[in-house]
Amino acid sequence: MVNREYHKESQVLNGHEKHSMQLYRALNRQYSKEAAINVVVNFIYKRLGYRTMYLDIVENNKKVMIKDSSCKDINEKSNITDTTISGVFNLSLSMNEYKKPLCLEDLNSIEEAFPYLYTMIQPHKLLSTPVFAQSKLVGLLIIYDKEKERKISCELKDIAQLVARELTAVFSRIERQNLAFENMLGLTALENILLYNPEDSLDNTRDPLQKIVSIIPSATGMKKCTIALLDEDEEFLLPHYSTFDKSAKTKEKKYPLDKTKTKDHTAIIAIDTKKPVVVYDALTDPRCDPELSKELGVRSNVVLPILNVHGKPLGVMYLDNGEYETFSDRQVRFLEIIARHIGLIISNIEYIGDLKAWSKYDGLTGLLNRRTFENIYEEVYKIYRYSEEKFSILMIDIDDFKSTNDNYGHQMGDIVLKNVANCIRENVRQKDIVARYGGEEVIVILKDIGKEEAKIIADRIRHLIENLSVHNISVTVSIGLSTFGIDSYNKENLIHIADKCLYEAKSIGKNQVICK
Ligand code: GH3
Ligand code: MG
Ligand code: MG
Repeated sequence: MVNREYHKESQVLNGHEKHSMQLYRALNRQYSKEAAINVVVNFIYKRLGYRTMYLDIVENNKKVMIKDSSCKDINEKSNITDTTISGVFNLSLSMNEYKKPLCLEDLNSIEEAFPYLYTMIQPHKLLSTPVFAQSKLVGLLIIYDKEKERKISCELKDIAQLVARELTAVFSRIERQNLAFENMLGLTALENILLYNPEDSLDNTRDPLQKIVSIIPSATGMKKCTIALLDEDEEFLLPHYSTFDKSAKTKEKKYPLDKTKTKDHTAIIAIDTKKPVVVYDALTDPRCDPELSKELGVRSNVVLPILNVHGKPLGVMYLDNGEYETFSDRQVRFLEIIARHIGLIISNIEYIGDLKAWSKYDGLTGLLNRRTFENIYEEVYKIYRYSEEKFSILMIDIDDFKSTNDNYGHQMGDIVLKNVANCIRENVRQKDIVARYGGEEVIVILKDIGKEEAKIIADRIRHLIENLSVHNISVTVSIGLSTFGIDSYNKENLIHIADKCLYEAKSIGKNQVICK
């Protein structure tokens, strides 16, 4: 029981300056807000016998946050049985009311101003002293008493004012130090993410995003990180990348992007507004699904949209904490920067993916390249091998291309080659395969086309090219033809036959189609 006599308080006040010095010195040694508050809590309890707690004003919000309130370490020695309180609570009066000291000496006014404290600890007396930082209200120093008789003295109010003023100074010092430290951490974090080269990991089977996700918690100080990307139809969020336990069901889940179909709306809001969603308590926040939060052990979290280079949403990044936590504007801005970089990295990965896809094609003609052709030919052959259907191969080579180069220059030769390639591609069906087989040699697979029809097609192509005038340069091609199921059933042999026919066409005058 806290049943200190009044004379004790006055004794303390006599030695007030000495104790203040002790307090200031102790405060100056603290490097965290919590530790500084602890010093104050202990000081007030030991000197005055009152219990104290500090309410952190949640930035730009009419909410306060209490973390493990009240003289925790004193509790054990004396019989203070207050349960420690933590959580985020709403302030009930207007903010201006809290900007001046409130001396509340009856239950009604305490209940009115601090309903949650009233319910939880039922103090009979309560003194609230504002703590400012850069003339902004940042917290409330609450000194309270469960004794009915004791009155809050003027001296106590003075001490509270002094302590609050001192806390302001201590907080801004700590803030400055933390800022410098955070900036350093932030830079390191960004560096870690940026140093990561998406091209390196494209060839790895391990997904590059999983690697990024695993870096983020240590970089941001958050416990868990999940990146959920939109599916192709943008109907679902797929949380494939996560630091949550692999066995956790989350990874396989998909979350509909429709508020009527899911209880957790944070990601939808983040995607719709393209702004971060900050959740202090996922168990009570109406935008969250309390069951899911409980299952995942999530309390405070920040959900950030991930946008591509053009600002189009790709998904969201969840940064989760298992406990109550408030986030400063600066922290959230920092997380936004990280999310923005992830968006750029994903855009980059997609871009490099596109580049890789492009390497299926030949740079000059835009036709499939030789390597891709071999792969596709293999697949086509597998399909036709046991079927009744036929297919034909055209081996097309530009006639006297060397002299075209010699006469008009290599650049003009390129233009001629490109035009010939276009002409071939445009005059076969979409399903036919057209590839650059060698320098000025193009190979075509005409699917489901027998020899007679292939001859007609080949001759049409030959004729079209003959009439093609590229900057007044005439160009002709010779074509060798072979047909699967007629000339051979063998994959290599078919090419060989087409080649031989081409050679024959060359030797008997060029600009013609030859088959066996
Ligand atoms: P033929 O009628 O017997 O096929 O004679 P040709 O001159 O076309 O055949 P040859 O094989 O002797 O020479 C092919 C030429 O094609 C040589 C090479 O410089 C040219 N060539 C190959 N690839 C390219 C290219 O990408 N651009 C240009 N401009 N020329 C190319
Ligand atoms: Mg040639
Ligand atoms: Mg050639």
